[in-house]
Amino acid sequence: MTYAPCERAGNAPTDDPGDLATKYNIVEIFHSVQGEGFHNGIPHVFIRFGRCNLRCEWCDTNFDEYESMNALDILGEVMKYPSKRIIFTGGEPMLNDLWPLSRLLKRRGYHLSIESNGTVEIPEGMLDWICISPKDQVYPNITIKQRTGDELKCVYVGQPLSLYDDLVAGFRHHFLQPCYDEHASVEENGRAFAITEAVVKEHTTWRLSLQTHKWMGIL
Ligand code: SF4
Repeated sequence: MTYAPCERAGNAPTDDPGDLATKYNIVEIFHSVQGEGFHNGIPHVFIRFGRCNLRCEWCDTNFDEYESMNALDILGEVMKYPSKRIIFTGGEPMLNDLWPLSRLLKRRGYHLSIESNGTVEIPEGMLDWICISPKDQVYPNITIKQRTGDELKCVYVGQPLSLYDDLVAGFRHHFLQPCYDEHASVEENGRAFAITEAVVKEHTTWRLSLQTHKWMGIL
């Protein structure tokens, strides 16, 4: 039997050695407060995966720099923190087989969320919360394969909301989020915020999501 480093022998669940040995490309693992969307304000452990199949111009993640970690080491890192909630993010986490890691975490009582661009279908039952952030406002030819979930979160850059007419029915919550530019002034970011706020006021099935962690200057 193999144990995560912070588990005492006798208390750990029996794990599949293959699951524990599964390798993932990891940019970073950190503990912070979710700053956007439905779970805004709730502490989570973020597992940021390397690689993405898109290249959005506003992307704030250096997903090309990562290290290989096996699931056992990821468990050890995650279990250093008090939060029992995890967000798989990236890059695009669904470029990985998340089943082995999800099995290990679920057996330890973790609530698992994902933030994905929706270009890869997510297996049913693997996760507890699915947040899809489609990027078809910049990639009109990309097909969104994951068309159901808990949260649809769209970065608003002036695109018509009719883009999402076929998608909204599959999701319980709909968020519009202004694009935060870390090189712009507070006033310039505030203008993008005001434009998105005005759109939400006119389209009341959508809610405003702000990247509050960026406004606060935290991870
Ligand atoms: S899909 Fe997300 S991670 Fe990938 S390039 Fe776009 S913003 Fe970045």
